[in-house]
Amino acid sequence: TVGAVALDQHGHLAAATSTGGYNNKPDGRVGDSPIIGAGTYARDGVCAVSGTGKGEFFIRHVVGHEIASRVAYLGEDVKTAATKVVMEDLKPHNIGAGLVAVGADGTIAAPYNTDGMFRGWVSDDGEFFVASHDEVFRYEP
Ligand code: ASP
Repeated sequence: TVGAVALDQHGHLAAATSTGGYNNKPDGRVGDSPIIGAGTYARDGVCAVSGTGKGEFFIRHVVGHEIASRVAYLGEDVKTAATKVVMEDLKPHNIGAGLVAVGADGTIAAPYNTDGMFRGWVSDDGEFFVASHDEVFRYEP
């Protein structure tokens, strides 16, 4: 699964998620990635979210919408909301889950409850960074 979230110069938020699902998935299965509000969600003024992990649980917890609702209605920042959903809602299922999110103020969050998750982002001054675990590397193309 590859996911991306973005905040543009006009303040619009967007999320996109592409996946092949998982190995030996049932025929006809539809995962969480194409279900807006589950594996993919963006709402201007709130946040954008793209997730990876066993989609049935992202659908059950309506993960993208849940994070946006926590931000919009509870006033949590995107890092707090995203971390709560990944570590408190999803972790007990032992499915290995993570997501990338960006808030309306440009704050980014990428919590995961697996050993690692590849992430990449661009800083405010245009530098590229990548990480797979806790160590962050500056990427020079
Ligand atoms: N979320 C995807 C799905 O369930 C799989 C994944 O992200 O690994 O289809």
